Amino acid sequence: MILILIVTPLGIDHLNLKHLEYYDEFFTCAYCAYCVNNNAACPTFLSVRHEIVTGRGKMITARNLAQGLLRKEEGLNALAEGLFQCTFCGACEQECVVDIPLMEVYTELKGLLQDRLPVETRKIFQNLSSKFNIYGMDQADRNFWNFDVEDIYERMVNKPEEVGYFIGCVASYMGRAAGAPVAILKLVSHANEKISIFSPTENCCGNPYLLGGCQEKAKELAKQNVAEIKKLGIKTLFVSCAGCYRVFSQEYPKLLGEELPFKVITHMEYILGLIKEEKLNLLSLTPIKVSYKDPCELGRHCGVYDIPRELIDSLPGVENLELPDNRENALCCGAGGLVKANYPNIAKDVSFKLIQQMEETGTELCLNACPSCQLNIDQFLQEQHSTILSIDISQLVHRLSQNYINSLAINQ
Ligand code: SF4
Ligand code: SF4
Repeated sequence: MILILIVTPLGIDHLNLKHLEYYDEFFTCAYCAYCVNNNAACPTFLSVRHEIVTGRGKMITARNLAQGLLRKEEGLNALAEGLFQCTFCGACEQECVVDIPLMEVYTELKGLLQDRLPVETRKIFQNLSSKFNIYGMDQADRNFWNFDVEDIYERMVNKPEEVGYFIGCVASYMGRAAGAPVAILKLVSHANEKISIFSPTENCCGNPYLLGGCQEKAKELAKQNVAEIKKLGIKTLFVSCAGCYRVFSQEYPKLLGEELPFKVITHMEYILGLIKEEKLNLLSLTPIKVSYKDPCELGRHCGVYDIPRELIDSLPGVENLELPDNRENALCCGAGGLVKANYPNIAKDVSFKLIQQMEETGTELCLNACPSCQLNIDQFLQEQHSTILSIDISQLVHRLSQNYINSLAINQ
C-alpha cells in the first residue's frame, strides 16, 4: 500500500495562489537584487530600509506564501506592507534581469489585499464611488479653476470637436496644479484652435483603483469615460497628467479588451504640434535654466522621453539642464502609488535626492508633466527654502507666448 502524505511545510493555513495569472513569476525570480540597488532602483528601499518593499522582497514573500512557508496572515500582512509603500516607479521592472512584469504582478497581488488597504486608499475608493473624483468634492466644483479663462472654457466645454483635453482630478481640484489647464486653455485660444473639454462631467481616469488593486472598479470608470469621449466624436485626446496618460494609453485597452476609438497623446505633444505649425508666437525673455522631471508613469512606464526634450529645446531662451539621473534612470519624486496620501514621510525622503540634483545642477525651474510630481516637488522645495520653482511645462510655454506678454503690457 502506498501511503500518500500531503503536508504543507508548516502544517498551517496554506493559501492557494495557483489561480493567479502571474503565479509562475514568483518562481522565476533569481533573487539577484538588481531591482534593489541598480541604477534608479529602489527609491522606497532607500527610505524604509526594509527589503519587503523591493521587487525581490515581494517576490520572495509571494513565493513563500504560495509554498506554505509563511502563515497566511503573516504573509499577506508583509505583502500589504511592501506593496502599499511602493511608489510604483517601475525602476525594479526595468532592472529585472529575468524580465518579470513586476508592475502587473504587484497589481494582481494587491487584488488579494482589498481587506488590508491603507486608510487613505480606502477613503479615495469611497470618494471615487460616491463622487467620481479622488477628493470626494462635488463634481460641479471640478471647474473651480476656470475663473481666469471662463470665456474660453465656455467655448470648449462638451463641444463636439476632433481634439479633446482630459484634465484629471489633481489639476481640477488642487489649486497650484490648476496652472496647467489654465495655461493650456490660453495657449489653445492663442493658437485659434478648437478643442473639447469634459469638465465638470469628467470622471477620474481610474488610476487610483488600479494602484489599489481594484481592476473591476477601474473598468467601470474606463467604460464611462470612453463612452463620453466617443459621444463627442473626439479623434485625438490629450492629457496633462502622467497617470492619466498611462491609464488611457496602456490600461484602458487591456481593461476594455479593445483598442480605444481615439488616439491618446500628452499635452506636450499637442503643444509641440502647435509650435511646429507656427500657431504660437513665442518670445525670448530672460534666459532661464530648467530641468525636466521625467515622471515615472510617462517615462519608464510609457517610454515618453523625447517629446518633452524636443518641446523644451523649441522654447526661446530656455536652457535644458539634464539632471544626472534622467530618462530611464530618472529619480522618482516619491508621490506615486498613493504613497503621498498614505506615507507622506516616504514621499519626502524619496524626493530628497531629486531636489539635491536640481540644486547641484543650477536649476531655476523644475518642469513637470505630472501634477502629482509638480505638487510633491513644490512642497519639499518650499520646506527646504529653495529658490527653484516647480511648475507644469505648459505654464512656461504660456509665459513665453505673445498673448501673455501683451496681457502684461495691458495691465501696466
Ligand atoms: S516600483 Fe519602484 S518603489 Fe516599487 S518596488 Fe519597484 S523600484 Fe521599489
Ligand atoms: S531583479 Fe528580478 S530576478 Fe532579480 S531579485 Fe529583482 S525581481 Fe528577482
